[in-house]
Amino acid sequence: MADQVMTVRCVCGWETSGSEDDVVVATTEHGRAIHNMTPTRDEVLAMAVRPPDLADATPGAAAE
Ligand SMILES: [Zn+2]
Repeated sequence: MADQVMTVRCVCGWETSGSEDDVVVATTEHGRAIHNMTPTRDEVLAMAVRPPDLADATPGAAAE
């Protein structure tokens, strides 16, 4: 469970995805370098989007 992939999208359009630690590090660096702010881990995780279970695909594409 430690390597679950998540994605963070910044308000500027930049985004990153990877493990939780990777995303936290990348987003913290991005914030510091681009926005002159340093988000906390909690703030980064609040921005993160965890994809639902890949097996949970909705079969709703039948537009017949
Ligand atoms: Zn940004």
